[in-house]
Amino acid sequence: RRAHYAALKDLPSVTKDGVAVTLLHNSGLVADLPMLDDTGASGVGLFRTELQFMIASKLPRLQEQVDLYAEAMRIAGTRPIVFRLLDIGGDKVVPYLRSAAEENPAMGYRSIRLGLDRPGLLRTQVRALLIAAQGNPIKILVPMVTETFEFRRTRLIVTKEMERLRRADQLVPSRVELGVMVEVPSLLFELDQLLPEADFVSIGSNDLVQFLTASDRANPRVSSKYDAIGLPRLRAFRHVVDAARRYNVPITMCGELAGRPVEALALLAIGMTRLSMSPASIGPIKEMVLNLELGPIRQAVSAALLDGADGVSVRSLLEEWIDKQ
Ligand code: PEP
Ligand code: MG
Repeated sequence: RRAHYAALKDLPSVTKDGVAVTLLHNSGLVADLPMLDDTGASGVGLFRTELQFMIASKLPRLQEQVDLYAEAMRIAGTRPIVFRLLDIGGDKVVPYLRSAAEENPAMGYRSIRLGLDRPGLLRTQVRALLIAAQGNPIKILVPMVTETFEFRRTRLIVTKEMERLRRADQLVPSRVELGVMVEVPSLLFELDQLLPEADFVSIGSNDLVQFLTASDRANPRVSSKYDAIGLPRLRAFRHVVDAARRYNVPITMCGELAGRPVEALALLAIGMTRLSMSPASIGPIKEMVLNLELGPIRQAVSAALLDGADGVSVRSLLEEWIDKQ
């Protein structure tokens, strides 16, 4: 299979009916970045910066952060990387960042909530990213945004750090794009306020599905109970895709869903054409894309979403279709 997928890596990722699909890696450590050459992916759609913090025994210093980000960008070359700001807390434990025990850590004091409360931590990371870019453009993604003001406050921190570097006559990125993760359900109802301010959007399906279905993503007894591409979830994703299109903001799916063929097919069917996944999934998803006639699937899925008859399973519909291929 490996050799088989390797043979696909240089082919443009386009469906049979001409829809271009951008395939990206989820990553977080420099060690897996050379895999970009093996998979032929267009870049890194999600770089989980918290991994450096999780494997360290104490807070990584500014220079250590700069080194990691600069090395990542060096290996990626012209392929863009989306650096996600620290998403610690929840299931991502960083022992030396002391925090009180929480009954519900997934819904607790985590991610950008913590970042905005501890601006020293966030500022240092933003500074490290801006320095590491060495004058090149950079993309920064804000996790777990619940209300627009959190995104605004993060943008303000980025702007201030830019000014600070300029005043010190240091090189700043030629362009900073700031994106927002949609993974907290409340944001679904704030897209008209949020999207005009965002340079790009990324759906985090792991958390979004967990919160939409009120089922812990780490608890298999409930996490597999509700189909992530069940009609209500697909409608939620499509709502974001449609809004992003209206505001002309690029949108990517970066949760694990995007790396599974049936789920990826459902996402393509609702108009999501940028998929970020673990490197091992690129081959199988690319093969699916290359053999795909998307038009009829789009129609069938749209009809199911509109009709919404009880018991309609987009999954069965897509599985049947895949079997027929
Ligand atoms: C997500 O929530 O879907 C996501 C991509 O982020 P993480 O899995 O790191 O929470
Ligand atoms: Mg998440």
